Amino acid sequence: MDDTQIAGDLTRVLISKEQLETRMAELAAEIDRDYEGRDLLLVGVLNGAVMVMADLSRALRSRVRMDWMAISSYGSGTQSSGVVRILKDLNTDISGMHVLVVEDIIDTGLTLSYLISNLKSRNPASLKIMTAFRKPEAQQMAVEVSYVGFDIPNEFVVGYGLDYDGHYRNLTSVGTLAPHVYS
Ligand code: 5GP
Ligand code: MG
Ligand code: MG
Repeated sequence: MDDTQIAGDLTRVLISKEQLETRMAELAAEIDRDYEGRDLLLVGVLNGAVMVMADLSRALRSRVRMDWMAISSYGSGTQSSGVVRILKDLNTDISGMHVLVVEDIIDTGLTLSYLISNLKSRNPASLKIMTAFRKPEAQQMAVEVSYVGFDIPNEFVVGYGLDYDGHYRNLTSVGTLAPHVYS
C-alpha cells in the first residue's frame, strides 16, 4: 500500500520506508556476524512480524530456517496483561537450536516475557530477541533484547505489520493515526 493513499489517516510519519530498509539491512549484517557458522532458526511472531521477517530474512547472507508462532495476549483495550494464549505453535522442535525471535514491537514486554519463558523451557542452544520497534517502558524489562530496529516514543503506531483494527499493516512506513480514524 502506497503511503500517499492513506495520507489523510496519518498525522505523522515516524519512520520512512527508506529508514526501515536501511536499518533492517544493518541489523541483518550484525546478525550474520553474530551467528556465523551456526544454524539459525528465525521465529516470527504472527501477525505483526510478517513484514520485519520478510525484510530481515532477505537481507541476511546466512542460511536460516524460519518458523512462526501466533499468540494472543489478553488485556483491557490497548493494554496487554501478560496473560498469553498460544494460537499457533511452532512446527519445529527447537531443542538444541539457535533461536532468534523476530518481533514487531515491544511495549510493556509482557507478551515477550511469556514467550521467552515458554521457549526457554524447550531447551534451545541459544535464544535471542530481535524487534523492529521498542517503546520506552520495554527498556526497563528484565528480558534483554539483542537487536532493536528503532526506539520510538510512547505513541500508538501503525504500518510495517502493525495494525489498528486489522488495518494499515501493509503501509510501507510507520506512523501515528489521525484522531478521526479512532472515532
Ligand atoms: P506488550 O506485551 O509488549 O505490551 O505488547 C506487545 C504487543 O502489543 C505487540 O505485539 C502489538 O501487537 C501490540 N502493540 C504495542 N504497541 C503497539 C503500537 O504502537 N501499535 C500497534 N499497532 N500495536 C502495538
Ligand atoms: Mg508482536
Ligand atoms: Mg494488533
